[in-house]
Amino acid sequence: MVRLCDISDFLKRVDKQTQFEGIMRYNEPLSHHTTFKVGGPADVWIRPSVDVFEDYVANLLTSAYAEEVPVFILGGGANIVPQDVGFRGLVLDTSGYAGLLADEYGSASFAAGSSIDTAMAVAEVRGWGGLEFLAGMPGSIGGAVYTNARCYETSVSDRLIEAVALELGCGVFQRKTVPFRETDFGYKKSPFQDEKSASGRQTLILSAKFFVYQRESALIHEEMDAHRKDRETKGHYRFPSAGSVFKNNRAFGKPVGKIIDELGLRGLSYGGAMVAPFHGNIIVNTGNATATDIRFLTDEVREIVREKTGFVLEPEIIFL
Ligand SMILES: Cc1cc2nc3c(=O)[nH]c(=O)nc-3n(C[C@H](O)[C@H](O)[C@H](O)COP(=O)(O)OP(=O)(O)OC[C@H]3O[C@@H](n4cnc5c(N)ncnc54)[C@H](O)[C@@H]3O)c2cc1C
Repeated sequence: MVRLCDISDFLKRVDKQTQFEGIMRYNEPLSHHTTFKVGGPADVWIRPSVDVFEDYVANLLTSAYAEEVPVFILGGGANIVPQDVGFRGLVLDTSGYAGLLADEYGSASFAAGSSIDTAMAVAEVRGWGGLEFLAGMPGSIGGAVYTNARCYETSVSDRLIEAVALELGCGVFQRKTVPFRETDFGYKKSPFQDEKSASGRQTLILSAKFFVYQRESALIHEEMDAHRKDRETKGHYRFPSAGSVFKNNRAFGKPVGKIIDELGLRGLSYGGAMVAPFHGNIIVNTGNATATDIRFLTDEVREIVREKTGFVLEPEIIFL
C-alpha cells in the first residue's frame, strides 16, 4: 500500500526530471470529476498543462510503473464509477491536454483531453463532416477512443485513422503511433482495454486522428443539433448518470433497455440510485446516491434479468 507521504516524495522525484505545470490537489473528491457525481477522494489528483503534458506524463508513468504507484487515467469521467472510499494512488486528469493538434486534407487530430463538445465545435467551424454522430456525448476524445464509444449506429473506430499513445516498452513509456486495425476494435471494444487488462499497465492515449470531409458548416450544425436535441428528449441530461449501464448484445434480440423496461424495472431504486423512469438502461443519481448504491442497483438489475430471461448483462460503465 502506497502512503500519502510516499506519493508526495514520489512526485518530488518525478518533478526533478520534468517540472510539473498544471493543477495538483491532495484528497480531491472524485465526485467533482464524474458525470455521476459520485466517488470519494483520490490521494492525489493532477492535471498537467498542455505545455509539459507529454514529457511529464511519460516520466510519471515510467516512474509509477517502476515504483508500483497506482495511476488511474481520467478523461471526462462520463463512463466511470469510482468507489466511495476513493482511489489510493494518483489520478491523472488528461483534460489539460486539449485542442486541435493538426489537420491535413481529409483528417483531423485532436489531443486526447479535448472534450467531445470542444472537438465538435472545431469540426463545425472548420466545416469538417464525419464526426457529427458524437455531438452531445459527454466525455473526452481519449475516453471515446478507449471505450470505442458508439451512438447513432456509428462507432469511434469507424472514423479513426490512428491514435498516438504513450506505451510501456522495456520499462519506459514511449510515444507510439497505433494505426487503426479493424480486427483490434469491436463493439465498445478497443485494443487499449486489452493492453490494460492483459498486463496491468495502462497505455495512455495522447491523441486521435479521424477521417473528416469538407461539408457546409450549416449542415454539420443541423445534424449535431438534431443529435443533441434527441439526447435531451430521451432524458440524457436530466440527472447525473454515466449513460447506458449495460452493453447491448445482438444475441438478446432487442436493446437491453427494452428488456429492462419489459421486466418493469424502471423506477427501481436503491439508496439514491434509480433505474431512470424514462429509460431502462440508464441508472441515475437522484441527488444523494453513493457509488455503492449504483453498484448494488446494477447488480440487482443484472440478477433479475438473468433470473427472468437467462441473459447475462455486461456492464458498460466502469467500476473502479
Ligand atoms: C448522458 C450520457 C450519455 C452517454 N451516451 C453515450 C453514448 O451514446 N455512447 C457511448 O458509447 N457512451 C455514452 N456515454 C458514456 C461516455 O460518454 C463515453 O463512454 C465516453 O467515451 C467516456 O469518455 P470519458 O473521457 O468521460 O472517459 P472516462 O469516463 O474518464 O474514462 C473511461 C475509461 O477510459 C479511460 N481513458 C480515458 N481517457 C484516456 C486516455 N487519454 N488514455 C487512456 N485511457 C483513457 C479511463 O482510464 C477509463 O478506463 C454517455 C454518458 C453520459 C453521461
